[in-house]
Amino acid sequence: MSSSRNISIAAHIIPETGPGVQLPAWQTALAEAFNDPHSLLSYLQLKPENMAERQLAQHQFSLKVPRHYADLMAKGDPHDPLLRQILPCGEELVDRPGFIDDPVGDLLAKQQAGLLHKYQGRVLILTTGACGVHCRYCFRRHYPYQNGTATPAQWQSILDTIRNQPSIQEVILSGGDPLMIHDPRLARMVAELQALPQLKRLRLHSRLPVVLPQRITPQLLELLSSNRLQSVMVLHTNHPNELSPALAEACEKMRSAGITLLNQSVLLKGVNDDAETLVSLSEGLFEIGVLPYYLHLLDRVSGSGHFEVEPDRIEALKGQLLLQLPGYLVPRIVREIAGEASKTPV
Ligand code: SF4
Repeated sequence: MSSSRNISIAAHIIPETGPGVQLPAWQTALAEAFNDPHSLLSYLQLKPENMAERQLAQHQFSLKVPRHYADLMAKGDPHDPLLRQILPCGEELVDRPGFIDDPVGDLLAKQQAGLLHKYQGRVLILTTGACGVHCRYCFRRHYPYQNGTATPAQWQSILDTIRNQPSIQEVILSGGDPLMIHDPRLARMVAELQALPQLKRLRLHSRLPVVLPQRITPQLLELLSSNRLQSVMVLHTNHPNELSPALAEACEKMRSAGITLLNQSVLLKGVNDDAETLVSLSEGLFEIGVLPYYLHLLDRVSGSGHFEVEPDRIEALKGQLLLQLPGYLVPRIVREIAGEASKTPV
């Protein structure tokens, strides 16, 4: 991870508590997350192999894995599909043609620091550079968060920009992960957004409920359900092994609070590039009240080439999903092309 991203993380997860005041449980759990390959591999009863390469990759983009997520991995299995998503490896160091730092054109779409405008009717706020887990394939792994997030100092200006665009009906809180922001600040942000008369919906893109389900606090549910905006939570799961009982419980609470739940996945070689896994993921999501929304093809970000699935395999998977799932459980397979006015169906 770049140092710029680390600075941004510190700026956003400092809790609003005084000396001696207890941190919420989710922040304590985050502070205890694994942050080096050695300790994670040891916990998973795996040999520390290829460590020099792992350290180099880790230097570019650090490892971060909450214990809850590590506990969903099989002990002793170096090919575990969850482990593959988060363990730094030497393949990230290989330069591949077509793989770049900003594959989806985030910098082109930047309206001002912390605010992206790509698609008609909605804007995306980069609330923080921090995440609860570091996914090796992340399309923003090289994003210059240091000057690119909605810091408290920029917040009013972002609100003014949105207010001056009456066609904007939906705000997406993204990052990083917006749920890295502590509840009191999030509550203030939501309150100020709902005061913008043209807004109808508030969407959050988050992986925290998956990797740290205790993040779904009563305070969070209250702040998302007690405003006039329709709240939509788009989770990010890639494999059925991520659908833990604790996530199911968190989803039940969110649904009871009136929050619409969707999921987006990324198609990843060696993780979920087979029909059985994808079908099981869609079925499992529906069982916990979440609709499969998008299956993104990999954004070609530098360091992620080993996750790319071949076109003929994608074609075959598409056919198998259509055959094996009811239409409402088939995620839309899309690619994001920089500068396009919408996601591109595949
Ligand atoms: S949670 Fe999302 S933004 Fe954070 S590292 Fe993973 S893919 Fe990237």
